[in-house]
Amino acid sequence: MAEQTMTIGGESVAADREFGVVNPATGQVHAQAPDCSREQLDAAMKAAAGAWRDWRKDEAGRRKALHEAGDLLMAKAGELAPTLTMEQGKPIGEATFEIVGAGYWLKYFADLEIPTEVIRDDDQARVEVRRRPLGVVAAITPWNYPVMLAAWKIAPALLAGNTMVLKPSPYTPLSSLAMGTLLKDVLPAGVLNVISGGDELGAWMTSHPVPRKISFTGSVATGKKVAQSAAPDLKRVTLELGGNDPAILLDDVDPGAVADKLFAAAFQNNGQVCSAIKRVYAPERMYDEVVEALAARAREAKVGDGMTEGVQYGPINNKPQFERVSELVADALGNGARAVTGGRAMDGPGYFFEPTILAGARDGMRIVDEEQFGPALPVIGYRTLDEALERANATHFGLSGSVWSADADRAAEVAAELECGTAWANTHLALHPGQPFGGFKHSGVGVENGTWGLLGFTEIQVVHRAR
Ligand code: NAD
Repeated sequence: MAEQTMTIGGESVAADREFGVVNPATGQVHAQAPDCSREQLDAAMKAAAGAWRDWRKDEAGRRKALHEAGDLLMAKAGELAPTLTMEQGKPIGEATFEIVGAGYWLKYFADLEIPTEVIRDDDQARVEVRRRPLGVVAAITPWNYPVMLAAWKIAPALLAGNTMVLKPSPYTPLSSLAMGTLLKDVLPAGVLNVISGGDELGAWMTSHPVPRKISFTGSVATGKKVAQSAAPDLKRVTLELGGNDPAILLDDVDPGAVADKLFAAAFQNNGQVCSAIKRVYAPERMYDEVVEALAARAREAKVGDGMTEGVQYGPINNKPQFERVSELVADALGNGARAVTGGRAMDGPGYFFEPTILAGARDGMRIVDEEQFGPALPVIGYRTLDEALERANATHFGLSGSVWSADADRAAEVAAELECGTAWANTHLALHPGQPFGGFKHSGVGVENGTWGLLGFTEIQVVHRAR
């Protein structure tokens, strides 16, 4: 019997079938999760549609419920964290931080204004632009930050007056299911339904007749399928997809002074962050120094089971991803790159890979051109800044990027030349619930967070009153 249940219409629901969830630190199935049937998906959609009728009318109630939900997540973060660590791999402290952060997100949106604009008010007419909820939102999330990325959807969608059916990744279903169970005590029945299953369940959701909006976070390849599936019914979509973030070091930077931040932003969550630094461009004259500063940090990194005290980096989340990172590193090594440190899987069970710094990396190598999403970072030398910018932008990805300089103004000026949704200067991965986040090009459609993210869960309605 699965240890977690789905939440459908305010009830805890098991499924006839189950699937195994692997602990990536051991490589073994450690728990079962419910495999949602089509009938149960229909029931979840029906519950969400039914709950929408009252939920949409009670803004004060929604704000109160979101505050309570946020408080509850924060209070129970310590209890939920082991569930997240054992399915995702991240250290227990980071798991706790993720759940507290999700609570913070809910509370931030609980107080965010839903804007109404009066665009005309004269003796002829009063014209207001209002924001109306869409209806049922189908939310689909990936395995790297299952709780946090669900909160990025739940908070604005529910505040705007929508209801939701949420499906986490089959690699990390348990923490989202546990969140659904927890929040059913503070949200009216049917407002947030949480179901679990394989990729096909996601496809059933995007083609289901009930939802009016798909909010999707995941890979570019799946994002394209989601867009296709949503099109015949003209469902609204927000797509938060993959990234291949460049970090460009300018010629005045002190490598020793920025190495801690660069390393942290490349290896956070073991490199499994959509907007992690995935390639570093360093001026030729300081190239060796940059490589060595990063390698020194990689050598010190403590990798192990996330449940063990003192571990900083856990395993890669799943076997296909572990194999992909191994393959991209092997490809780079076979094509002239050098592993200054790391470069291979670690002995023993579980999907552990040595933190890897690759010198001699070039554009055209797969690990530079593709999204590695793991603990391996290529460092690429450049001669002129124009060349570095051109190479940084020569990609279908456009999620985020950063520029590093002794002069923050100069860094910001150059960063604005990056073709991406978030351009950081002397930092990377600095996020806030009020700051819109999304990608250019193949990295996404629409944004999440802030008022802009909230508006993505609404339709514009013009109320034109004749005088
Ligand atoms: P994925 O695309 O394989 O899966 C994401 C989700 O989509 C899962 O829940 C999966 O079950 C579901 N899914 C799979 N096929 C589907 C289909 N045909 N229709 C509907 N749903 C389907 O991605 P992943 O491997 O879980 O996550 C890693 C990717 O997510 C990386 O590319 C990463 O960059 C990206 N990501 C982006 C952001 C962002 O905000 N831009 C944040 C985190 C992760």
